Amino acid sequence: MSDHPVRILLLYTGGTIGMVMDMENESLIPFDFQYLLEKIPEIRQLDCHIDTDSLDRPIDSSNIKPEHWLRLARRIEQDYTQYDGFVILHGSDTMAYTASALSFLLKNLHKPVILTGSQLPIGVARSDARENLLTTIEIAMARRKDGLAMVPEVCVYFEYDLFRGNRVHKMSTEDFEAFNSMNYPKLAEAGVNIKFNNNYILNPPKEALKLGPAISTEVGVLTVFPGITQEFVKAVFSAPMKGLIIRSFGAGNIPMDPWLIEAIQEVMNKGIYVVDVSQCVGGGVALGKYEASKALKHMGVISAVDMTFEAALTKLMYLLPFGFGYDDFKKYYESDLRGELTGAQAGKALGLA
Ligand code: ASP
Repeated sequence: MSDHPVRILLLYTGGTIGMVMDMENESLIPFDFQYLLEKIPEIRQLDCHIDTDSLDRPIDSSNIKPEHWLRLARRIEQDYTQYDGFVILHGSDTMAYTASALSFLLKNLHKPVILTGSQLPIGVARSDARENLLTTIEIAMARRKDGLAMVPEVCVYFEYDLFRGNRVHKMSTEDFEAFNSMNYPKLAEAGVNIKFNNNYILNPPKEALKLGPAISTEVGVLTVFPGITQEFVKAVFSAPMKGLIIRSFGAGNIPMDPWLIEAIQEVMNKGIYVVDVSQCVGGGVALGKYEASKALKHMGVISAVDMTFEAALTKLMYLLPFGFGYDDFKKYYESDLRGELTGAQAGKALGLA
C-alpha cells in the first residue's frame, strides 16, 4: 500500500499506443504492457498511486467484443471502492463503442473512467501517447473543492480534449485530433492548465453504482443508400435479430419506395425494435420533419435523436436484455440515460435502470 492519497487503476487492452512493428509481416502488432510503462517513466512523477493490469493478450481494438465491455465494467465494479479513478488504454478504432457501452453498463457512476490511446506507437519519437496518457491520469486524479471527482463520467481523452464517452466519434485516421463530439461540448481542454467545462459535466448521483445486466448482440444495421435494392434489404431483414438500426439520410429520411416501408413494417410486426439514426455526425433525427420520414414516424419507429451511431448501437444492445414491451422500450430508448442525447426527458424520471 502506498501513502499517496489518490489511487488510479490503469487497465491496458491494446491498441496502437503499445504496438511495435512486426518486421516479418511489416504490420503493427500489440506488445507487452511493461514495455509501454518503461517508455513513460514520467508516470512515476505523478502524485498518485497507480496499479496496472492488462488483458492476457492485448488486442487491436478492431477485435473488441461485448465480452470485453462486460469484463471491463465488472472489473471497475469489483475494484470500485479501492480506486478514485480508472484509466483504460484502448485502440482508437472502436474506442467510441467501448466508451458508449461502458457509459450504459456503469449506472450511477461517481468516479472517472477515462479511455485514451494514441495515433502513433509509444516507441515512435513523435508519438502522441505520452501526453495522452499523462493528462488522462491527471484528469482521473482531479477533485472538486468538495473532494468529489471532477469528472464522474465515462470519457475519452485525446489530443488535449476531454469528451463525454457516449458523444465521441473517431473522425480521422491521420490527425492527432482523432476524435470529435459534434453534438455536445468538450468536458475539458488541456493547455498549461486543464480547464474543466463544469456546466457540461454530469453531477455525481446519490445512488450506488449499479452494473447493467447484459449486452445483447441480437442486433442488425441497415445503411440506406441511393439505389438500395429490395433483394438486398430482404436479405438483411431475414437475419435473426431483436433490434434493428436504420442508418438514414439527414434528419432521419429514407427512400420513399413503398416496398421499403412495407419491409420495415414487416420487421416491426415481428416484434423487432427499429431505431432510426442519422448518417450525419452533426445534428440528428427529427422524424416527420420531411415527407421522407413521415411513414417511419407513423409506424412508431424509435428515434436516436442526436446520438452518435456508437451510442445508438450500444444503447440498443444494453436495453434489449431488460425485455421491455415496444412502447416502454421506445420511451426508455428516447430518454436521456447517461447524457447521450439532447433535449430528452431524463431516464431517471421514468424510473428506468
Ligand atoms: N487499429 C488500432 C486500434 O484500434 C488503431 C489505434 O489504436 O489507434 O487498436
